[in-house]
Amino acid sequence: MKAVALVSGGLDSLLAVRLMEDQGVKVVPLHMVTPFTGVLDPLFLKELKERYSIKGCRLVDIKEAFLPLLRDPPHGFGKHLNPCIDCKILFLGKAREILEEERASFVITGEVIGQRPMSQRKEVLSLIERASGLESLVLRPLSARLLPPSLPEREGLVDRGRLEAIRGRGRKRQLELARAFGWGAFPSPAGGCLLTDPPFSRKLKDLLDHLSPGILPSLRDLELLKVGRHFRLSGGLKLVMGRRKEENEVVRSLATPKDVLLVPQGFPGPSGLLVGKADGEDLVLALSIMARYCKGEGPFVFSYKGEEEGEREVSPLFHQEVERWLVT
Ligand code: SF4
Repeated sequence: MKAVALVSGGLDSLLAVRLMEDQGVKVVPLHMVTPFTGVLDPLFLKELKERYSIKGCRLVDIKEAFLPLLRDPPHGFGKHLNPCIDCKILFLGKAREILEEERASFVITGEVIGQRPMSQRKEVLSLIERASGLESLVLRPLSARLLPPSLPEREGLVDRGRLEAIRGRGRKRQLELARAFGWGAFPSPAGGCLLTDPPFSRKLKDLLDHLSPGILPSLRDLELLKVGRHFRLSGGLKLVMGRRKEENEVVRSLATPKDVLLVPQGFPGPSGLLVGKADGEDLVLALSIMARYCKGEGPFVFSYKGEEEGEREVSPLFHQEVERWLVT
């Protein structure tokens, strides 16, 4: 008997897989890669294999498919800009496609009733199942005995008596199970989604507020949100500035021919990107903001490269002026 499983990398999904494997289910692990959660690091796959015996995890890229959910998710946002219900529908919809491809019988998830306020209530779990075309075909081993029996349980393919009845945010039972499986170190429970991070959500809101109605952000725009300080200048223009060497490298690597790339000349300092239509005044303002984050009194020389290129010498802007433009 074969099933596909959603594996976030958090403890719950790993336990769910293990509980099913202990019942003889052949599990095809899937890791959904969104713009906000994806773990593409090969170390992640290595760790899954070596520490938790989860082999052959498929990375399913749903980054593009996720973008419309940022604009107008049919089931709304959670506390921040997290469209959890529609995100789960998307995850399960993809899992269903792979289930058909793999000729698997059902889908396993590590969800626990009551653990998340928006998407892990009983009635919401069944709504998500129906909307993704998987009614009765989602088995949640950690909370299964608190839920109506899924098809594989009803058909006796899985022994319901050996499934769990975990509810809520506590971790006691999960940690007991992990110890029983001999897992010495446990991954963090939530797996980490940037959309639930308030500062990140605020930067994302600023981005969405400055796009024309109906226009989706690009994946590049979302990558930029993950680094540096962000400043919203007049006319919708945006300055993104690295805070340390690695961020400066990312900022430079994300530049497109439509941006203006700003790089310090002859001294260590931040690199920046001006995204949007910039004139000479905007350029001076952006560089004066960046100069505020350089060591010393200045003036400082930066190169700029966009439609035009050259060098400019600027002095730092007053701290209060800089704060005025900062997206916080
Ligand atoms: S927290 Fe993020 S990844 Fe998880 S369901 Fe919500 S939107 Fe999706």
